[in-house]
Amino acid sequence: MKNLFKPFIFLFLLSGLLSRAQENDLVIQEIIREVNENSQVEMLAHELMDGIGPRLVGTPEMKQAHDWAVAKYQNWGIQAKNESWGEWRGWQRGITHIDMISPRIKTLNGTQLAWSASTPKKGITAEVIILPVVKDSISFQNWLPSVKGKLVMIAMKQPTGRPDYNWEEFATKTSLEKMKADRESQRKAWNDNMKRMGYTSRTISAALEKAGAVGIIDSYWSNGFGVNKIFSSQAKKIPSIDLELEDYTMLYRLIEHGKKPSLRIHAESKELGMQPTFNTIAEIKGTEKPEEYVILSAHFDSWDGGTGATDNGTGTVVMMEVMRLLKKYYPNPKRTILVGHWGSEEQGLNGSRAFVEDHSEITKNIQAVFNQDNGTGRVVNISGSGFLNSYDYVSRWLRLVPQEVKKDIKTDFPGMPPTGGSDHASFAAAGVPAFGLSSLGWSYGNYTWHTNRDTYDKIVFDDLKNNVILTAILAYMASEDPQKSSTDQRVLPLDKDGKPTEWPKQKSPNRKGGLN
Ligand SMILES: [Zn+2]
Repeated sequence: MKNLFKPFIFLFLLSGLLSRAQENDLVIQEIIREVNENSQVEMLAHELMDGIGPRLVGTPEMKQAHDWAVAKYQNWGIQAKNESWGEWRGWQRGITHIDMISPRIKTLNGTQLAWSASTPKKGITAEVIILPVVKDSISFQNWLPSVKGKLVMIAMKQPTGRPDYNWEEFATKTSLEKMKADRESQRKAWNDNMKRMGYTSRTISAALEKAGAVGIIDSYWSNGFGVNKIFSSQAKKIPSIDLELEDYTMLYRLIEHGKKPSLRIHAESKELGMQPTFNTIAEIKGTEKPEEYVILSAHFDSWDGGTGATDNGTGTVVMMEVMRLLKKYYPNPKRTILVGHWGSEEQGLNGSRAFVEDHSEITKNIQAVFNQDNGTGRVVNISGSGFLNSYDYVSRWLRLVPQEVKKDIKTDFPGMPPTGGSDHASFAAAGVPAFGLSSLGWSYGNYTWHTNRDTYDKIVFDDLKNNVILTAILAYMASEDPQKSSTDQRVLPLDKDGKPTEWPKQKSPNRKGGLN
């Protein structure tokens, strides 16, 4: 798709839309030409996702990624550094290998959860059991000693491994409705039983661990074929693994039918003590107004079930590529262009909150923040984030974006201030005009976000290149704008209780994490 955008360059030259100086048009033309002819996004994505892998806070791979990004920037002649803002429990994932050894042999699909304790060197071999249906917490406490020496499954058995869209396409209306009703009553029965036991899905692991279980087996289905969400272990000293739905439900059925399956699990990991956490910051100094900033933003960390390709490898490589192009074709920007690759967004926007808290000299002078963090898709939504005059300046910056790139973008002005979700919220809470460049879905919620399937093969590079062009032009236009963007906030509407909605408050980061 080398020439994807070429026709539009000509369209531009002919249309007379360009009212800016000739040299300004040239910047945009050069950027578009290089995206079409010499894009680096595939190579950046390969090095990051295939070479370094997932980037969980506190892991050596996270640090390796920060160092890789600094080296890339320096190689492009851009000043860059890793800025430490706190520390986190250090941990490193090792090999996970899970085999059913009885009643038949089968290697199972699963992985240890983040921060899981390691199995011993020779692994764990044990029988697997399920939670009982109990009358009350006393009967559960009476059952509890029977977990000693066992692996315990703590997730509900899903009635189907087919996502709803597949049922909707093929099932009869009757069987679809029946499946949904069965699943709902099963879910309710499971939750009611958990309540009678006196626990929740978050607290049950600790109780099982205390009673002598040797491992926890969870399964957090993400409502797609073969896809599970992989978060952190709730147990402290015994390993926790997540099994994919197919294998998890098979074990469950074997147990229900009295087969007493046994597993052998090797799930190695290392504790590394407290480790420093970083943001990678790079900048191209402004020439006319160096004290004013245009900020490119994308969190760098990820969960580690996959390689964090669409959360947020794609936002990361887009911002890196934009910086490379700006340095090459717009090396002397009017305002300073700074990129932030934040650490520990996944645990609560920690890196960006730390940056906002530690750099009031920057945050008081920001022209705009452009953040991207919801997958590989081309940008289709931009909200004014509650800034009263955002319509005026964001529209002005979008003006020279090629029609092909912006034709599907829906804007919402003044919009509402972001209350969380990604790093532009950290800036908006401090009153900084900060905007999320929101992507088309590409089944993000089910198939990639925080899952074991968030890998390089899901990246849609044409959409990334589209986003590079959009973001580079927005940054360029915001930098060149003769006016400073207004930070005036809209009057917020009343909430559902009839009280005025408040602007979100700036929050402090967790600077010492992973300890509880
Ligand atoms: Zn994210």
